[in-house]
Amino acid sequence: MIKIMKESKCRYCKGSGEQTCHICGGSGYRMIYKNPLPNVFAFVTYDFSEISSCYKCHTVGTVICRHCKGTGKSNSLILRQK
Ligand SMILES: [Zn+2]
Ligand SMILES: [Zn+2]
Repeated sequence: MIKIMKESKCRYCKGSGEQTCHICGGSGYRMIYKNPLPNVFAFVTYDFSEISSCYKCHTVGTVICRHCKGTGKSNSLILRQK
């Protein structure tokens, strides 16, 4: 039995070590919709939304790839029977 460690590019982040943040979709910000009070009429011009910085990526828009932990590489162990 031969063990071979094969180092290859992480296929999830394509070797960059970063992935697009799935919380904000890469924009770094999130729209938060506040629930209007039930007895407020719809025509009242209140702004019920606000833009908040993404809690996941902190406005960067990318997060460290969770598959390769930011290294951009993935090690796959190949077992070869002799
Ligand atoms: Zn984000
Ligand atoms: Zn990766």
